[in-house]
Amino acid sequence: MAHAELAETDFCCQQEEARLAALAATGILDSPPEPTFDAITRLAAEYFHADTVLLGFADVSRVWIKSSWGEPVRELPRKGSILEMVLAEDGPVVVSNIATHPGTLARRYICRRLEIQSFASAPVRSCDGRILGALTIFGSQPRRRMAVDELRMLESLADMAAGQLELRRLRRTIVTCGPQPVPAAKSPENTWPRRPDLRAALEQRQFVLHYQPEVEITTRRIVGLEALIRWQHPERGMLAPAAFIPAAEESGMILPIGDWALAEACRQIQHWNRELPAPNSVRVCVNLSAPQFAREGLADHVEALLMRGGISSGQLGLEMTESSLIPDTPTALDVLSHLRKLGVSLLMDDFGTGYSSLNHLHSFPFDVLKIDRSFINRITQGEQPLQIVRTILELARVMGMDVVAEGIETRAQQRLLEEIGCRYGQGFFYARPMGAEAVTNLLRLPGRLLPETKPAEARAN
Ligand code: C2E
Ligand code: MG
Ligand code: MG
Repeated sequence: MAHAELAETDFCCQQEEARLAALAATGILDSPPEPTFDAITRLAAEYFHADTVLLGFADVSRVWIKSSWGEPVRELPRKGSILEMVLAEDGPVVVSNIATHPGTLARRYICRRLEIQSFASAPVRSCDGRILGALTIFGSQPRRRMAVDELRMLESLADMAAGQLELRRLRRTIVTCGPQPVPAAKSPENTWPRRPDLRAALEQRQFVLHYQPEVEITTRRIVGLEALIRWQHPERGMLAPAAFIPAAEESGMILPIGDWALAEACRQIQHWNRELPAPNSVRVCVNLSAPQFAREGLADHVEALLMRGGISSGQLGLEMTESSLIPDTPTALDVLSHLRKLGVSLLMDDFGTGYSSLNHLHSFPFDVLKIDRSFINRITQGEQPLQIVRTILELARVMGMDVVAEGIETRAQQRLLEEIGCRYGQGFFYARPMGAEAVTNLLRLPGRLLPETKPAEARAN
């Protein structure tokens, strides 16, 4: 072999090794079926009216199908596969009619049962751009040429799979290399507050709600408020939820405390309805914990509160995290469906931090997806974190949901989010959580437009 050819073979081997290492870092081949991928193949099948959709990843010799729609294919030889073509092309491959592509005729069968006449395949790439797998739609008939928009859609869906893969990789990195949680020391301080402390606080009206504006990113118009609970402790000062919500959840006190928060938010909405001109467009969102869903009658309780306060259901939103909905009990689904019927907005909080995010989006009727602040934090640090947020936006668009970016702290983050078309945001860059009176002043601003943050203030935040 000539020297140049040898060098090229070496280079290819190195590239393939790096590709396999990137694949291994995701752990995807050793993992059980990923419901999030099923959501993607299903979306692709629906959108393209495809007979079969496969999402697979290639190791040295096999293509491992991690999700299939239509035909239950588990694995294929890599040699002669469509994924091999995608790797060779280093990009998408579209064949509208196999009969007119002699080179692809051999690929007419992806398995013995399934004869294909057309296909389109888009690469699923690692964060450093290596092709790990592909999302492929198959037709048993030739199809018309693929429009540019359609190919873009297929690539977006493949990117969603890449986003999920990257989340897996990050989680594995965090789990294996990140700071390990320090087990809580058994000091008396750690057992505070106990149930009687929380009960006393409730009786002595020591809880308060603060409100943080949610804004339209381009205009800075306030579109909503998130109600965030605080404990005004006579000796310990103003306590953040992290200091007492876990104890409240463990002791069951979250039920009466949660009821109080809901009732207090409704009381405040009623007050604003009386005091402010045309306040109806501002939605106040209240956070709910898992036990509040597990209990019967949440939806009836919310309905009664709205009726009593003469509040329109569009003025109330309920935020919940993915983990508060696990396990996917029929109760949770029933409760959410009932709330949805009432017209109350349902927001998925901290999106991306739980498990099988996409799966939950499919099972539950959410209106709004709040992207967790850990993603927003990173968007200025490179293309990949930004791509994850783009993917989440695209996912929400396909599913008809609004998106709120949580934890915007800097102008740079705000600009990037604006550029990639994220419509709503919340964070210290706009306003911190504040008492009802302070937020009332903001609601009185003409057009509810928050004044521009001065650079110095933005930095201080
Ligand atoms: P969350 O619902 O995700 O609320 C957003 C949290 O992020 C708030 O923390 C808010 O102050 C903080 N935040 C907002 N913008 C920024 C930013 O730009 N940078 C940073 N670093 N942080 C920002 P907070 O008030 O401490 O609340 C923490 C969590 O406690 C909430 O997270 C929510 O899960 C829970 N929580 C709050 N109120 C209630 C409640 O009434 N009931 C229940 N069950 N949980 C509540
Ligand atoms: Mg929240
Ligand atoms: Mg959140």
